[in-house]
Amino acid sequence: MDIAGTYLPHEIFAPTGARGAPRVFIAPQRYIQGKDVLVQMGKYLALVRARRAAILISAGGERRHGGPLADSLRTAKIDSIVCRFDGECSKEEVEKHARALKGQRVDCVVAVGGGKCVDAGKAVAFRLDVPVVIAPTLASNDAPCSALSVFYSPAGVSEGVEFYPCSPALVVVDTGIVAAASERYLVSGMGDAMATWYEASVCLHNSAASTMVGARPTLASIAIGEVCANTLFKHGAAAAAAVASSTVNDALEAVVEANTLLSGLGFESGGLAAAHGLAQSFTAIPAANVNHLHGEMVAMGTLAQLVMEQRPDEVRRVGRFFTEVGLPVHVGQLSIDAHDGAALKTIVDQVLAFPFIGNMPMQIDADVIGNSLLGAHEIGVALTAQAGDAAYRRLHAD
Ligand SMILES: [Zn+2]
Repeated sequence: MDIAGTYLPHEIFAPTGARGAPRVFIAPQRYIQGKDVLVQMGKYLALVRARRAAILISAGGERRHGGPLADSLRTAKIDSIVCRFDGECSKEEVEKHARALKGQRVDCVVAVGGGKCVDAGKAVAFRLDVPVVIAPTLASNDAPCSALSVFYSPAGVSEGVEFYPCSPALVVVDTGIVAAASERYLVSGMGDAMATWYEASVCLHNSAASTMVGARPTLASIAIGEVCANTLFKHGAAAAAAVASSTVNDALEAVVEANTLLSGLGFESGGLAAAHGLAQSFTAIPAANVNHLHGEMVAMGTLAQLVMEQRPDEVRRVGRFFTEVGLPVHVGQLSIDAHDGAALKTIVDQVLAFPFIGNMPMQIDADVIGNSLLGAHEIGVALTAQAGDAAYRRLHAD
């Protein structure tokens, strides 16, 4: 099967006439979050009437979570086949598992792991035409709730997006597992989640803008984005501290929901804009790509977008929050030299090619992008001169 796929949402949600594209809201059937919910998986799988599940999980994940998960399924009288996820959401990896599972009569795929395992699980389930159940082990990304996968080459180079007609049937987030992971993952997830509201707002207010699936944003997705940002401002620092001490508390529960559910619903149905355009473009700089997580790049992209929108107070408010939790606020913190003209040109060219940069309401050209990025960079340098960069250095100590 071809990536680029058999399901093209842009055709389904194409404009219907003078009023343009319809509003579309996309969401998983059930979202379940709490401490120790993973070992209840057998019970939850009754919601999809599972009798025989394929579990997609890495070798490390299997060591950490495989035993209790298998016990839970056995107790619920559900057979399981374990498929070892080898680390990349590539066409090769997905086809390998889909081939191995054909004829095995599995009636759902359960993906347990980080963003790439989750995305691979959706792709395998789509090929088997069965529901997918997502159990993320990190709150670093908003992949769990969406009906799309980002594909990479086996060498890790991005190869585009595949869309699915069905969202995950269940998303089961065990906050005990998230709390045991590194603080940097949760903080990176906050960077990705913080962009949601700003990007969705831009799309809502620009009648020419469209979402990931070619639709218009719903008011629901903007409201979700706003709650997401406010949750991060309020509880972000306390949640990071909770993960640093492997503790589950209310602040952590709030931020895990913001990073996973609110951010996921908000980006898929609200739309993307300059923040993700910049983030994608930073991956073209090898040092940034190797040393930094997606959400860290989105954080810098968000500051640049706010400069582009000429919202100086908001740039400072968001920048202060990023400084407090340890997200990048200047390009040096993404391993990019602000004086490297060739690197900046590469970034600007990539942003101009980003499919959703046209969602920004103003005329976008190389100068607008370059000046916004450097403007945000300078504000970030000033912020760290004032407030220090202790949190950032702590998260990047190794
Ligand atoms: Zn993102």
